[in-house]
Amino acid sequence: MWQVVGHETAVALLDNSLKSGKLSHAYLFVGPPHVGKMTLALNLAQALNCEGDEKPCNACSSCQRIAGLKHADVQVIGINGRAEISIDQIREMERFVTLKPFEGRNRVFIIDGAEHLSPEAANCLLKTLEEPPPNVQLMLLTVNERLLWTTVHSRCQKLELRPLPILVVEQALIKRWEVAPERARVLAKLSSGCLGWAVGAFCDDQVLSERMERLSALLQLASEGRAERFTYAAQLASQFSRNRGAIREVLSLWVGWWRDLLLIKGGCRDFITNIDQETTLYREAGNYHFTGIKGFIESLQQAMEALVQNANPRLVLDVLMLNMPKRKGGLEA
Ligand SMILES: [Zn+2]
Repeated sequence: MWQVVGHETAVALLDNSLKSGKLSHAYLFVGPPHVGKMTLALNLAQALNCEGDEKPCNACSSCQRIAGLKHADVQVIGINGRAEISIDQIREMERFVTLKPFEGRNRVFIIDGAEHLSPEAANCLLKTLEEPPPNVQLMLLTVNERLLWTTVHSRCQKLELRPLPILVVEQALIKRWEVAPERARVLAKLSSGCLGWAVGAFCDDQVLSERMERLSALLQLASEGRAERFTYAAQLASQFSRNRGAIREVLSLWVGWWRDLLLIKGGCRDFITNIDQETTLYREAGNYHFTGIKGFIESLQQAMEALVQNANPRLVLDVLMLNMPKRKGGLEA
């Protein structure tokens, strides 16, 4: 009764380890945003505290409370709008690590966004990662394992969660969330295999309207001059310290858009992601040369990498704006 959709290898490994009593004391779940890392972590927390026969049963009071994040023995630690996970948060966690479980059999700590652990927080966590008390399970979730402290990484067993096949997302939306088939098809494509994004977009219209705003800004920028592009870069860069995830989302959306233009140029229409924007994509594809699109995708990937490496965001985004190709016969960039 594991609730997570797909990720069969990870589920089988955890299930077998659980049944044979050979769970690692600390797991690292690596995967893109909304791919299912938290769902899998909560599922394991349920399995460790389930009162039913087939664990996790997802029906007993313990499973239900864990799903609703209301179980006293399951804690989620995250950045919660701050720049990093602080040593105070980890010290607070360590205080609970030494206590016996309140209501279940195991204490579970989920560190969401483990790449944001401050150096002091990571250092503080090492001892628990090395020698956790009995009945304590740690799970660290990250979108970028390269940003994780090596000392932390080496003490965890890594499980990688990759995007699901689009058809799996589509079927899950129809069967489990009762999404109408045509809408499910579009959302599954737009999700790039990250079911959590598709469910979020189905439940909250804001997700899709924000995406449209970001795409509109991109289209607008393509026909504007340097001054407007630099103004946009400055706005984006100013958000960076507050919300790195939002910048990553914008740049990922851009990569997807320009990749779609490349696919249309190459006659591979069936593989495009932004299927709700097909008409615009065809129109835009005619405005650029193949090499210009390809070059800009590389620039976007370099920019994302540079931001991961903590380069100056304003500088990175300014360079990106300069590299955005000119429309054929369009305005001077
Ligand atoms: Zn249960």
